[in-house]
Amino acid sequence: MIKCRDVMDVMERIAPKKLAEEWDNPGLLVGSPEDEVRRILVCLDVREELVERAKAENFQMIVAHHPVIFRGLKKLRTDLPDGRLLGALLRAGVAVFAAHTNLDCVEGGVNDVLAARIGLDPATLVPLSNADSLSESLGRIGKLPKKIDAKAFAERVKKGLGVLTVRFISGGTRPVKTVGICSGSGAEFIERAAFMGCDAFVTGDVRYHDAQRAASLGIHVIDAGHFATERPIVDILVSRLTEELGDKIEVVADDRARDFFEIV
Ligand SMILES: [Zn+2]
Repeated sequence: MIKCRDVMDVMERIAPKKLAEEWDNPGLLVGSPEDEVRRILVCLDVREELVERAKAENFQMIVAHHPVIFRGLKKLRTDLPDGRLLGALLRAGVAVFAAHTNLDCVEGGVNDVLAARIGLDPATLVPLSNADSLSESLGRIGKLPKKIDAKAFAERVKKGLGVLTVRFISGGTRPVKTVGICSGSGAEFIERAAFMGCDAFVTGDVRYHDAQRAASLGIHVIDAGHFATERPIVDILVSRLTEELGDKIEVVADDRARDFFEIV
């Protein structure tokens, strides 16, 4: 048996807290470093059904990508969703640790896993945002092994992420070789990617006017969804935590969560 503190130490090595954006809220958000841990559940989101599972299957700790407490908490009302969730965690005695933008940025983190899934050559990756190193950048720019047609690239993204559909915004007839990515919600970087010479940009949460801007800048955009661009990190985190702690505890992926968005 180990303590929460030991998991926190390993997570600090995987995704140092100092890499997080200023507005972010990573770290141990529920529980105590002294809590004992035998089983860990790894997920993107702490949802109510996940807390139920943690309780039923004896997980003492959840390691999540999205912080369960994000905006300032001013009340803990259990008749409202946020308070209900936190109340359920406390009653179940389940600790929650979050690695958010620090896990997005860090080498080997969410963006690098996404880059690998969509076929970017890892040796070509450079920061997308204005940063000195990959580990300080929320996104990446990388190259495909060879130029391909934009729609063919969209198909590659679908296959790499295991999704049936993506939203495709055409930037014209240019083929795709240089690709910008930002896992999760990265439409704010479309313009930067275009100016840095990207043929295409892959992210989630793209809005109508982002699409309009992309089309006018002549960059293809593939909106593969917030969930799908981040979900691959869950299995990677399970392996990393198992590598470091696996002889003492069991680490399991949340394999039941689905994208909130369904195609109907
Ligand atoms: Zn996210």
